[in-house]
Amino acid sequence: MSGKRWHVPSASATPWDGIGDDDLTPSQIVVRDSHRDVYEFRHRALSEVGDAGFLNGYARDRCPRCGCDRIQRWGREQGGVQRYMCRGCRRTFTPSTGTIFEDHKLPVADWVEFMVQAFGFESLEAMTREDRRSGTTTPWWMAKLFLVLRGVQDGVVLSGEVQIDEKMHPLAAKDRAGGRAGMGAYSKDKVCIAVGCDDAGRSLMVRAGLGKLSKSRCWDAYGGHIERGSTLVHDRENAHSVLVDRLALKSVSYRSADLKGLDDRRNPLSRVNHMHFLLKEFMHRHSGFDRDRIDDWLNLFSVIVNPPDSRLEKAAMVLDRAMSLPVSLPYREYYGQNGCSE
Ligand SMILES: [Zn+2]
Repeated sequence: MSGKRWHVPSASATPWDGIGDDDLTPSQIVVRDSHRDVYEFRHRALSEVGDAGFLNGYARDRCPRCGCDRIQRWGREQGGVQRYMCRGCRRTFTPSTGTIFEDHKLPVADWVEFMVQAFGFESLEAMTREDRRSGTTTPWWMAKLFLVLRGVQDGVVLSGEVQIDEKMHPLAAKDRAGGRAGMGAYSKDKVCIAVGCDDAGRSLMVRAGLGKLSKSRCWDAYGGHIERGSTLVHDRENAHSVLVDRLALKSVSYRSADLKGLDDRRNPLSRVNHMHFLLKEFMHRHSGFDRDRIDDWLNLFSVIVNPPDSRLEKAAMVLDRAMSLPVSLPYREYYGQNGCSE
């Protein structure tokens, strides 16, 4: 590969070309500039300017440490980033304080590039190799991305024609009950992943416990994510009845045996089947993914398959999330927790 991984019409094409900066959000501007920037191989010089412009776009109205709203502007940092003083706790902060960008080890443009890769199905190994990042950087950046994506599916509500089906994912031998190897035939040794798709292109994929679906786990997984009165297209899994009853859904169900061998055009569950196929491929690429992280990987997969379509727009959306969420993950803390050293 020649270092160009984006399959876009021209080197600098973005979804926001021809739109003035005044009509764009700080995250859209920084993603656009970072993207052009990488192509022009002027990465470092531009990203420093870009970080201040981006961070200052998120003006703060309260202190991220104590929540006090008696704050005032307090000069700028060397790179131009706005500094504030809190009258409550008498400490200063910047727009990045309390976010994943807090420790300055994460230049925004580099993270944008990282996200664009992550949203393109690349394996962690490939991402590390291609960018010559150190082997410790990629997992840490991924951990930051996972933190920002927690809850990203909370607001997903499927409506219209909703297809659902569960995917059973075998646990790695080390994660099975009692650590038994080679006993994958037990249903309890598989994670049940609830997958749903609607006719507007929205998808949901959440963990629904271990083993065969029960009514209560079915409700926990799908219940908050399907609009009342929608049409539910599904197989004859008993547990689904709880959704039909409580959400007054119109149920259209098929026997799995009757769908075997049908091609996509004739299969009424083709959309959710296709999602299972993509998910399987995704899990295969990220073969390192373990039980503790399944929810995080599913959130990432959800961003990949849901709107907006453009990876750049996805990156801008996630940057906005990162700047609005009080989560940070200092390098030392991350590697301290994971028992690694640099
Ligand atoms: Zn304060």
